[in-house]
Amino acid sequence: MYEDVQLKSSVGVIGAGIQGICISLCLVKKGFKVTLIDRDEPGKNSASYGNAGHFSPYAAVPINRPDILVDIPSMLLSSTGPLALKWNYVPKMIPWFLKFVKNCSRKNMMHTAKYMHQILDLALPAYDELFKDIDISGLVESKGIMYFWTKKDLKSRELENNIRDQLGVKQQLLTPHEIHDLEPKIKKIYHGGVLYPNARHARNPRKILLKLFDLFIKRGGRFEKQNVQTISFSSDNKPVVKTDLKFYTFEKAVIACGAFSKKLTDQVNEKIPLDTERGYHVHFKGHDYLLSRPVIFLNRGFGITPMEQGLRVVGTVEFGGLDNPPSKKRILNLVNNAKYLFPELREHQDEWLGFRPSLPDFLPVIGPSKNHKNLFYSFGHHHLGWTLGAISGKIIAEIIAKENTNLDLSPYNSIRFS
Ligand SMILES: Cc1cc2nc3c(=O)[nH]c(=O)nc-3n(C[C@H](O)[C@H](O)[C@H](O)COP(=O)(O)OP(=O)(O)OC[C@H]3O[C@@H](n4cnc5c(N)ncnc54)[C@H](O)[C@@H]3O)c2cc1C
Repeated sequence: MYEDVQLKSSVGVIGAGIQGICISLCLVKKGFKVTLIDRDEPGKNSASYGNAGHFSPYAAVPINRPDILVDIPSMLLSSTGPLALKWNYVPKMIPWFLKFVKNCSRKNMMHTAKYMHQILDLALPAYDELFKDIDISGLVESKGIMYFWTKKDLKSRELENNIRDQLGVKQQLLTPHEIHDLEPKIKKIYHGGVLYPNARHARNPRKILLKLFDLFIKRGGRFEKQNVQTISFSSDNKPVVKTDLKFYTFEKAVIACGAFSKKLTDQVNEKIPLDTERGYHVHFKGHDYLLSRPVIFLNRGFGITPMEQGLRVVGTVEFGGLDNPPSKKRILNLVNNAKYLFPELREHQDEWLGFRPSLPDFLPVIGPSKNHKNLFYSFGHHHLGWTLGAISGKIIAEIIAKENTNLDLSPYNSIRFS
């Protein structure tokens, strides 16, 4: 039996990852009556729990770039590289790949870089606004993020460094000596590196997420642990959200289900080509003393972040959809890569698979639905959804409150896929 819950001046937010929680918090702060719905406990297992914890305001240069197409075959063949496929999913992903290839022109790459930079540049100030009201001591470090590489990877770095210079992103190129001074415990296999001094990292993304969630509840927000099955519309265009337990009628609704958002947007007649880049992590407990800041070894496309859980080793871009089981091989690859840099590492724990929500132009969808004026979207933040949580929340709340964001939001609109 379904119970019909009618709420006045209300917003329903579907998905309690970092996007949904930040949106909900920004909305309650503006006086909206917000119901946040998730099929799971917030931060239990979502991408917003298991990510590398980077706050990366510098990372505007997208994956869709002209030189990547040449590199893909060797990346796929490499036994230590970051790229992998689940072959049973390849036919389903062909339309996404074709759109991705189209977006690898220099012009499209620069378009994405420009509009990622627009929101990335505001990402940390937006978090600072939210962090004013919670105690984040010991949870966020401001020591920058370091990348390093061997001679083999120098060419592709030049392109990125030039674009970042054009965008005015602060970066410090590093000699091997300087890398060693910053992170003396890494095996000396590198020939060059870069430090992004303004980047930060989370020592425990789940704890930060839960602190923001608790603040949302404290400010009068409501949470329902239910699975959303459908979205339809009443005769006066109000979103009607049907869960496994109830019907909710809201004034406005927001879809923020990360990589799972397409299941709902398909129902409201939008053809948004959202798919997932699967990624993995493992922990080496008690070894966070080996690093002061997150590092990324570019040749092998993986990163290590010092966290409360130990060293979190994160990486892989696996195209395989939402339903395939995790790949043991990918976990082993991460473990071996971590041991290559730190031979003292022994047993790992907590093998985790997560889903980056990715669109083929590597811009998120943030804004109103094409077809329904009371429905809004915030998903598709790919590798940067943790960084972009607070700013996306701020933008969506301002749009719903009919305030001026002073931003050009058209590049994030879902209409670009029509
Ligand atoms: C391995 C890995 C490393 C990453 N590292 C970084 C990083 O260092 N920095 C960075 O900025 N980003 C990083 N990311 C990306 C970032 O984690 C994601 O972009 C971001 O977490 C997406 O947040 P979200 O709220 O959109 O989605 P999610 O965190 O996936 O949350 C979606 C929520 O929706 C819920 N949901 C889905 N469908 C339904 C339904 N039908 N009914 C009810 N609830 C539903 C889910 O239960 C979930 O809680 C990484 C991602 C991965 C996988």
